[in-house]
Amino acid sequence: MADLQNWIRHGDEMRRPLLTNPDLPKAEKLIIVGGGLSGLCCALRIAEKRPELPILLVEKSAKLGGVIGTWQEEEWICDLAVNATRPHPAFWRLIDDLQLSSKFQTSNPKAKSRWILLGNKPHKLSLFSLLKIGPFKLRKALKLVRNGGYSVADLIPNKQIADALTLGIVNDTASNVDADFLMPSATKFGDNPPIKKSKLASLIAKSYPLFTPKKGTIASLEGGMITLTKGLIERLQSMPNVEIMLNYNAQSPKSLAADNNVPISSIIWSAPGLQEDFESTELSIFAIGYEGQQVSHVKLGYGTLIPNKSLPISGILHESDIHQSKRSPAGHRLFRLMVPHSRWDKDDSSVLACAEELLAEKPVLFTKIGERKIPRYKPGYMSKTSAMSPDFTMVGWAVSGVSITHVVDEAERVAELF
Ligand SMILES: Cc1cc2nc3c(=O)[nH]c(=O)nc-3n(C[C@H](O)[C@H](O)[C@H](O)COP(=O)(O)OP(=O)(O)OC[C@H]3O[C@@H](n4cnc5c(N)ncnc54)[C@H](O)[C@@H]3O)c2cc1C
Repeated sequence: MADLQNWIRHGDEMRRPLLTNPDLPKAEKLIIVGGGLSGLCCALRIAEKRPELPILLVEKSAKLGGVIGTWQEEEWICDLAVNATRPHPAFWRLIDDLQLSSKFQTSNPKAKSRWILLGNKPHKLSLFSLLKIGPFKLRKALKLVRNGGYSVADLIPNKQIADALTLGIVNDTASNVDADFLMPSATKFGDNPPIKKSKLASLIAKSYPLFTPKKGTIASLEGGMITLTKGLIERLQSMPNVEIMLNYNAQSPKSLAADNNVPISSIIWSAPGLQEDFESTELSIFAIGYEGQQVSHVKLGYGTLIPNKSLPISGILHESDIHQSKRSPAGHRLFRLMVPHSRWDKDDSSVLACAEELLAEKPVLFTKIGERKIPRYKPGYMSKTSAMSPDFTMVGWAVSGVSITHVVDEAERVAELF
């Protein structure tokens, strides 16, 4: 029964490993490394459960939030990394507990369409895309990848569709991305639920606080994702057992434990980059805005993925279409451009020329809003990660999964051990 309750609470996250040291719950003082979403959520969930336990969170940089960030200039608002969440009860619980529900709503139901640029033509992703892949090929591939260690290119046997998908999620081509890490339920990685998938899905649907999201929908926050990190930071600052230190570059779990006089099992490391063979890809993010009339030919939607490596832009997100909260001045539209450094000559004008070709000429706004790194999850990554047994605890998107739902849920699962 406990197992079923866990599956209802965490869903397919139960397939993902928890890299915790068994002595973690015995800690008399906890040290969390990294003030991104993962570190912040671990601090919150453990501090709530154990209000007498001193928790020190150390962050290398001068700010909290990690890769999450929201750029704002007058009425233009654009996220730099994640901008919306897929449905997961753990995320809904977080919004509810932080009392952010008045700022949280489903994204625009009219802006669901996603396209892939195949040649010069946008191809709308739908069930017909499966026909393009070939249902028989897909079925064969689904059987093959259950053996573990395969790439997304092995799982989706259409190179352009597979590449577009992985470029959109992890900024890498499909043959370089671990299928188990990205889609463990499709590859049947790890344990299986104790009841039928459909029955479990209906029990999970009933467990959401606030509102039950419809399948395939996403939700976002007024003011961008920074609203979430601000809410988390405010809550942590109000908790007497939590201390936060900025500009603290932890060298290693061992040295951090020694410096703070705690056993190594009291360290939770949420910062990516600890594994010896850790690699990441880099990309720049641009915001581009238009008067509505200039882009009236661009259909309302979520965005377009661009597998063609000869173009510097790998994805266009329709920021002002996606969210119900405002992202641009009235009568205008805002788009976000993802520009992988492996495809770009570092000249902003190449990005502008490509965007003008794909969207429209003479934008009223064009600016680079930042750079980000995304961990690389090569084939076999999930099997290798699952086999690790560090003498401290490892969390965050380098181990739990690339999306925010993974790190938010992982923090709950870690706190449940206390
Ligand atoms: C461009 C982009 C788009 C994305 N889009 C989506 C999306 O659409 N949907 C979605 O769900 N997710 C998306 N994500 C992923 C999502 O943003 C991440 O899953 C999540 O924010 C990761 O949080 P984290 O805390 O694990 O890691 P990070 O945010 O990387 O935080 C790690 C923290 O550790 C700190 N640190 C590093 N080393 C040390 C050290 N030695 N000592 C102390 N501190 C240290 C860092 O400074 C950082 O603050 C996107 C990410 C990017 C970059």
